[in-house]
Amino acid sequence: MNKVICNSLRSYVAFTKFQHKSCQVPNFLTVSKMSYVNHQKCYTKDAPEKKLFTPGPLSTSPTVRQAAFTEYGSRDVAFIAAIKTLRSKLVEIAEVSKDEFTCVPIQGSGTFAVEAVFQTAVPRQGGKVLILQNGAYGKRLAKICDVMSVPYQLESFSEDSKVDVNRVADILSKDKSFTMTSIVHCETSSGVINPVEDVGKVVKQIIPDCIFFVDAMSSFGAVPLDMLNGNIDFLVSSANKCLQGIPGFSYAIAKKSVLMNCNGNSRSLSLDLFDQYDNLEKTNQFRFTPPTHTMLAFLQAVKEFEEEGGVSGRGDRYKKNRNILREGMKDFGFEEFLDSSHEGYIITSYKYPQDLNWNFTTFYSKLNDRGYVIYPGKVLNADCFRIGSIGHLYPEDMKGLLSAIKQVLQEMNIKLR
Ligand SMILES: *Cc1c(COP(=O)(O)O)cnc(C)c1O
Repeated sequence: MNKVICNSLRSYVAFTKFQHKSCQVPNFLTVSKMSYVNHQKCYTKDAPEKKLFTPGPLSTSPTVRQAAFTEYGSRDVAFIAAIKTLRSKLVEIAEVSKDEFTCVPIQGSGTFAVEAVFQTAVPRQGGKVLILQNGAYGKRLAKICDVMSVPYQLESFSEDSKVDVNRVADILSKDKSFTMTSIVHCETSSGVINPVEDVGKVVKQIIPDCIFFVDAMSSFGAVPLDMLNGNIDFLVSSANKCLQGIPGFSYAIAKKSVLMNCNGNSRSLSLDLFDQYDNLEKTNQFRFTPPTHTMLAFLQAVKEFEEEGGVSGRGDRYKKNRNILREGMKDFGFEEFLDSSHEGYIITSYKYPQDLNWNFTTFYSKLNDRGYVIYPGKVLNADCFRIGSIGHLYPEDMKGLLSAIKQVLQEMNIKLR
């Protein structure tokens, strides 16, 4: 079934070989007239797919994507059971007790869950957030607070270093009026892994009631993080990061005793995590249309995650990917943005080489033409590009990417050593 998927929005111009009549447009997709005329842009499951070495969307397995093909009504008992399983699996993956913690999924990309936590956990009056930032995702936390008019203090650290725990302790000791401290675990703009557990200890030691909120979007499921030891009250991640589901929802792992105090805080109806939780507990249903297909795909993704050996198995594959990339890129003469004291294995930032023939757009397009998608940089003080080692990527894929890079460097006449 559904051999061919039409998608006029993504220009799979590379796959223009397919005949119009061979396309069987699956009836579960809403296909516009436009995409009928664009049938030459169809691709099949058998066609070569692009590999995504990006921070999201990430490559997913064909079996995960297939799991999204089943259609359920939101009130179907099978779907309701799926929601329950999904929530309970996520608490298990976080390695915390179901008595103390709960999982609240929310429709939308990762940022929706981040915003939902601020909406839910910062009171309408008297709230004040300490935001620790060392990159673009940390800055996004501040942007969200700006838009919400939540008072905050932004504490900035250099993008090539970790958040400094002593400085955090200093700030909190001088001002005990903070009601929340927030930090990003893996700062995906650079690849820095922040010392979240140490920060959490300091936060609660100095201000016991201060809520500790961690954006673990790009690390959850692949980089160990002890929520209890780190005193984490809210942790967020999304379906399409290291758990390798398809995009469509994100989730918070929340400490129940803290969440219970959040009733009525949210200035947003759709992003109210307390209300979402309350309704899920009472009815096992979402308040608004749930991302049914994405959730079924996610359950398959969790199964594959467990088969791989959970956090340690998945982390090991990403480490292998990263090491192959690291060695290969070093051999070519590329320089990493971070020094060797950093041990993250989620994403690697590379400095633009000095070579006069270097042009990122050309480099990117030539790799893209070969089926390898990398990502532009996102650090401020250096021109960089990024290569992710996460998602449905294996050592062969990293080697494939490296040989494509070699060809492209030759074509562009770039000699780095
Ligand atoms: C991916 C990511 C997000 C969320 O991004 P979305 O585009 O909304 O999914 C947030 N924080 C970090 C650290 C991320 O890596």
